Order: sequence, then C-alpha cells, then structure tokens
Amino acid sequence: MAKKTPLRKCIGCGEMIAKKDMLRVIRTKDNEIKLDPTGKENGRGAYLHFNRDCLEKAVKTKGLERSFKMSIGPDIYETLSKELMDIEQK
Ligand SMILES: [Zn+2]
Repeated sequence: MAKKTPLRKCIGCGEMIAKKDMLRVIRTKDNEIKLDPTGKENGRGAYLHFNRDCLEKAVKTKGLERSFKMSIGPDIYETLSKELMDIEQK
C-alpha cells in the first residue's frame, strides 16, 4: 500500500495540499513571521500553495492572522512576498 501523503490546508484558498508542494510560513518564538522554505525550522507553522496568489488571498482573508493569532502588518506581508519572489527566482 502506498504511503499516505500528509496534507495541509492552504490558508490562502483553503484547498488541501500535499506537504511537499506547500510553502511553510512560521512564527518564531520571537513572534517573527517568516517563510521557511526548508520546512525544518521550529515554530508554529501555516501552509500555503507555492504562489503569490495564495499569499495574497491569505492576506485578504486574514488567514495568517488567524493561524498565528496575532495581527500582521502590511510590512510583514511585504517581506513575505519579497521572500517568495526570491525563492521563485532560484
Ligand atoms: Zn492555495
């Protein structure tokens, strides 16, 4: 029997996605929000499709704020989308 793929819910569009296809966003113990492209950092995680559309949706629906139970300013979203662009260009 094939191993079951772990699924996570995208906080942007709400679809279930395979763990390997997702983008992990974490809140560190210092309450810093950042992308975790390696998926290995410690912290509370939220998951997104690997694209900017879903990041933008997560901004609009406040999915990130709900996941992390804290308010997230526009500057943080800007940082995240810049980081996402950097990753996409690699
Ligand atoms: Zn999505």
